[in-house]
Amino acid sequence: MIAQVIVDIAASQTDRVFEYHIPDDLSGVAIGSRVVVPFGKRKLQGFVVGISKTTDYDGKLRDLLLVTDEQPPLTKELVELSAFLAKAIFAFRISILQTMLPRVMRANYRKILIPLTPEAKKLPYFQQTAHEVDKITDPEELKFVQKLLKDNQAKIEYLVENQAKEKHELIYLPALANGQYQELYEQTRKTATKQRALLMDLVTARNSYPKSGSAMHDQGFSSALLKAAEEKGWIKCKEVEVYRDPLADVASKKPAELKLNPEQAKALAKIGQAISDQQAHPFLLEGVTGSGKTEVYLRAISQALSAGRNALMLVPEISLTPQMVRQVRERFGQEVAVLHSALSDGERYDEWRRIRRGEARVVVGARSAVFAPLENIGLIIIDEEHEASYKQEDNPRYHARDVALWRAKFHHCPLVLGSATPSLASRARAQKGLYTLLRLTERANQHPLPEVKIIDLKQAAFAGGQYDLSTELASAIQERLARHEQVILMLNRRGFANFMLCRDCGFVLQCPNCDLSLTMHKAAGEMRCHYCGHHEPIPKRCPNCHSSQIRFMGTGTQKVEQELTELFPGVRIIRMDVDTTRRKGSYKRKLDAFGRKEADILLGTQMIAKGLDFPNVTLVGVINADTGLWVPDYNASERTFQLLTQVAGRAGRAEKKGQVLIQTYNPEHYAIRLAQTQDYEQFYRYEMRMRHAGDYPPYYYTVLISVAAKNETNAAREAFKIRRQLNQQLHPETIVLGPTPSAISRLKNQYYYQILVKYKKEPKLNDLLHQIQDAGQKVKKYGLTINIDNEPERIM
Ligand code: ADP
Ligand code: ZN
Ligand code: ZN
Repeated sequence: MIAQVIVDIAASQTDRVFEYHIPDDLSGVAIGSRVVVPFGKRKLQGFVVGISKTTDYDGKLRDLLLVTDEQPPLTKELVELSAFLAKAIFAFRISILQTMLPRVMRANYRKILIPLTPEAKKLPYFQQTAHEVDKITDPEELKFVQKLLKDNQAKIEYLVENQAKEKHELIYLPALANGQYQELYEQTRKTATKQRALLMDLVTARNSYPKSGSAMHDQGFSSALLKAAEEKGWIKCKEVEVYRDPLADVASKKPAELKLNPEQAKALAKIGQAISDQQAHPFLLEGVTGSGKTEVYLRAISQALSAGRNALMLVPEISLTPQMVRQVRERFGQEVAVLHSALSDGERYDEWRRIRRGEARVVVGARSAVFAPLENIGLIIIDEEHEASYKQEDNPRYHARDVALWRAKFHHCPLVLGSATPSLASRARAQKGLYTLLRLTERANQHPLPEVKIIDLKQAAFAGGQYDLSTELASAIQERLARHEQVILMLNRRGFANFMLCRDCGFVLQCPNCDLSLTMHKAAGEMRCHYCGHHEPIPKRCPNCHSSQIRFMGTGTQKVEQELTELFPGVRIIRMDVDTTRRKGSYKRKLDAFGRKEADILLGTQMIAKGLDFPNVTLVGVINADTGLWVPDYNASERTFQLLTQVAGRAGRAEKKGQVLIQTYNPEHYAIRLAQTQDYEQFYRYEMRMRHAGDYPPYYYTVLISVAAKNETNAAREAFKIRRQLNQQLHPETIVLGPTPSAISRLKNQYYYQILVKYKKEPKLNDLLHQIQDAGQKVKKYGLTINIDNEPERIM
């Protein structure tokens, strides 16, 4: 038998399938197995993606060396998915397989020096630890090693190191029948109090055995005592593996006896029907913030479980929605596994294996959890489906939504996409009838939506010297502080780039061709469009009203924090941004502290906009609503609308009525006006017209080709070559833009050029792009790399 193997090395080196002979003693190998194979002179980790009886290869195949795990880590489904995805998103298959596995299962190679001859083996040098050749720096030692190699006294071996580590613990269990302990107790000397205590425990608390070593120690039974008891045959001691459980502190809770409202009931019935009919059907659950989507998800999961199937639920970067994860765990207890980037490697490895072994039936996780090795899936949910974080920005550039669609088809199960502000793409698909639209139009707990007010910064007076807080927002904060209510303030980081804004008329300098804002490139003295390449000098006055009050936007949470402390001496602020939440667990600690009312104001970036539920928060302030509007992306308005709607939903979650104040230089902009009324439908219709007029998605599909090289001329030349090739072969209606230098045109000394293709129907495009990519890989000169991003979230 022959195994087809993809070797686990940096993807750019090879993505070919290699064939190996399966020796008799490794006949347990299966599709999805992790193996060690000879590769040139090395030994590498690889994954079996196929098994066959015959081969076209006419040389002699080498043997597989080792099968790493008892159970293949990848399911057949995942192996199949990796093949599909590699083609669909122009990624190396190995990089997809790597994404599917916890990091600790990826191989680590070390070049180790191994003694060959008996004399060499006796050298003191080899009596110590293994020597890693790459780490030898001492010149004397290097000389010595080189001589050993030259004399064939030693050789270099590639050691595949498996970092995956399970955690083990000792447990103790009774070895005798109950009555015997009673007797032993009577016979034991009265002075042997510890022994008697242990015997008594074995009688009275027998049900709580087996007990862990730490539990025994907590009871005062020392290791020596336990050892003696074991020797006497009273107890048995075993080493078992323990899972590191990231949600160990969450207790199970009985579901609240909520009666679903008619809209929730209808949505659940439709989803439930698809679960029991095993229909691979997508639903779009569109419900205003607080409309009770979560309750619908949880009950749908329950239905899938009762039908004997499992459920997969994705939430945006999970650490951002700890409250949601807790709810799922409270409802489904130990059957829930979580996967997200804030777990330690050990926790992630354990959760992953629990899923693979079929011990977890509900998986909740962030983007990459869409690859969870869960089998028999009966329901997939993507909460906040519009979130940009579902698309991976690096290779492999997959979108979790597309992967979920594929898996739903594979498992014949429904996919539920939920959001208060669905992505235009999903909403348009629902409009076309590809998805079934389910709507929840009212807040489930009857608390009214908060009152939203827009503050026009062009007219406003400012409270401090920084132009960050208007007097109106400042006095609203003051009021809350006086009433001991809490405040959330959000600073929009998106579009932080330098665009030009006129403080007098609100004008933002845009591209004449694209209606996208121009970005300042200070060094070049230019304002540039990252979409079409248009550029012009940096203006000194506002081109609209000739005012000299122009500003190149940018502000930071630290600056705002300082202004707040000046305005409100003694105010307690928790600041949350990438800088203050880098440490593991700090995000959760900060939120918990805010929940315990240890601070008056939670000040943060986008990361505070989602999913939080703090009953004492009655004011939400948005400091700069419009910065996100002028990023050079076609979806800038959509992102702004989504963000404002989300953050507004954080106010007035409980009995106290909430208020939202949005500061902006562009109060007339439709994304801001419609976020004020939380009118998604109106926004959808308006934005679709804009997209139609601008030939943007979802009317057009897009592909972004980025070309990088070590010097700019080569990058540009290769990009123009691709452009010519595209022009020759694509439909004349297809729009090809560029090449233009990318927003960050130089990164790590690589120069980047990009081409954007907008098309309606191009059946040959995928093949053509694969040709372009393959040809690019054959060019070994000037560090050329070609990246292709299907449906890019960003085009800058
Ligand atoms: P969403 O996920 O749509 O933003 P949530 O699921 O967080 O909304 O629900 C908001 C609140 O409404 C929660 O406190 C939830 O317990 C409550 N809720 C949900 N469904 C009902 C219902 N049928 N009756 C009463 N309260 C409900
Ligand atoms: Zn342009
Ligand atoms: Zn102006």
